[in-house]
Amino acid sequence: MEFTTIPNVQKKASRVALGTWAIGGWMWGGSDEKLAISTIHKALDMGITVIDTAPVYGFGASEEIVGKALKQYGKREEIILATKVGLAWESEKIYRDSSRKRIFKEIEDSLKRLQVDYIDVYQVHWPDLDTPFSETAKALKELLDSGKIRAIGVSNYSVEQMKEFQKSAPLHVNQLPFNLFERELEETVLAYCLKHQVASLGYGSLCRGLLTGKMRKDSQFQGDDLRKSDPKFKEPHYAKYLACVDQLQQLAKQKYQRSLIALAIRWVLDKGISVALWGARKPEQLEAIDSIWGWKLNSDDLKEVDQILTRMIPHPIGPEFMAPPEHRRKP
Ligand code: NAP
Repeated sequence: MEFTTIPNVQKKASRVALGTWAIGGWMWGGSDEKLAISTIHKALDMGITVIDTAPVYGFGASEEIVGKALKQYGKREEIILATKVGLAWESEKIYRDSSRKRIFKEIEDSLKRLQVDYIDVYQVHWPDLDTPFSETAKALKELLDSGKIRAIGVSNYSVEQMKEFQKSAPLHVNQLPFNLFERELEETVLAYCLKHQVASLGYGSLCRGLLTGKMRKDSQFQGDDLRKSDPKFKEPHYAKYLACVDQLQQLAKQKYQRSLIALAIRWVLDKGISVALWGARKPEQLEAIDSIWGWKLNSDDLKEVDQILTRMIPHPIGPEFMAPPEHRRKP
């Protein structure tokens, strides 16, 4: 395991975190609680110290499962619990709300569900354009000063939005989409984080399973699985992505004797992301973590990967399909 530090957090942060969106079930075709708890325990056994969740994941379910698992496991003083704030819901319809009132309600709900008395990293899930950023930032600063949170984070914020936020509060973390197929923010948000000592948590490191090599032309997704609406998983794009996966898989095998998963996570880390989020809901999915350590991609390797990507996916599709409506507030 490699470790890093997150500003203001006095614990060692593993460079791979367990992402628990799928564990909440919603938008992932359901989930199994027993298996989810074993997955969280397995992650901790393997040396992962960062667990990322959010109130909206399963409308409280993910946080509750994480809370139960951590209560059973102990070692709270070593675990960096990252959760989010600012997405509200009504009848499973979600909307952005990062008002002070909402933040002060959500923190108490999250602390209760997670069964803890502080949260290590508290991230604004999506920028709320209908609330002044100063209001959101000042509310988080109050929570920081009170000790209820240890680090302030945002997620899905642009550079301009981070700068605006930083006028009213310190910023320790930005969580952004980042993987081989979704690298639009490399030169902007990631570069800013690297320059200004904001820790970056990269989400979708495996591009929702596409970069595991397990997807097939006829793969089917169940129930409310978000990949049914992901344009990358639809033709005419899907075949191109699968062909690129094949090339990347060959490179990983022939040049590094590693799996595609190892290459995908190594790439994210070697591009400068502080912590790569790995969405797993079965313990055995985490076995591959051990293949990430002890090697690195150098600049020639990164160029070779770039060549494959440019040749195979000249017009990449971003992760925008996941964004909640920009302006729709509570009806
Ligand atoms: P991800 O990590 O890119 O991919 C998860 C997918 O990879 C799942 O389909 C899972 O399979 C598959 N997988 C994992 N390990 C595998 C293995 N060893 N072999 C084969 N398949 C494997 O996707 P993600 O969950 O979207 O992102 C990770 C985390 O980032 C989330 O859980 C969440 O914490 C965070 N996130 C944050 C935001 C935000 O707006 N801030 C947005 C998205 C995600 P199964 O389907 O079979 O389980």
